[in-house]
Amino acid sequence: MDLPLEENELESIRALQKKVAELRKKRGFTQDPERALILLVEEVGEVAQQLKRLWSPNYDTFSNNAIAEELADVLFVLLGLSDLLKIDIAEALKKKTSSDSNRIWKSIEKPIGKKME
Ligand SMILES: [Mg+2]
Repeated sequence: MDLPLEENELESIRALQKKVAELRKKRGFTQDPERALILLVEEVGEVAQQLKRLWSPNYDTFSNNAIAEELADVLFVLLGLSDLLKIDIAEALKKKTSSDSNRIWKSIEKPIGKKME
């Protein structure tokens, strides 16, 4: 099972990667990949922080808007990091999903459900 990516879709991702890289430079954000990785991990942690609100009674209720912001931060930093490493993330996504298409996905027959409460 493959993820069919059309050339125009790949170009859109490339254009987004370029715009993010340009904006990060204009804002004076770090151009060091290791520092960008730290920022990416931080943003992933913020996604987890929002998801925690789904099950923990100790925090405010889950907000779709709040987690959307954090996921956007993850994408922004991921695209920036890809650019800093001179990686065409669109091409990488295409190659990776193509190589994954040869794997046997047992979850096709037995879909993974939500965790038990
Ligand atoms: Mg954030």
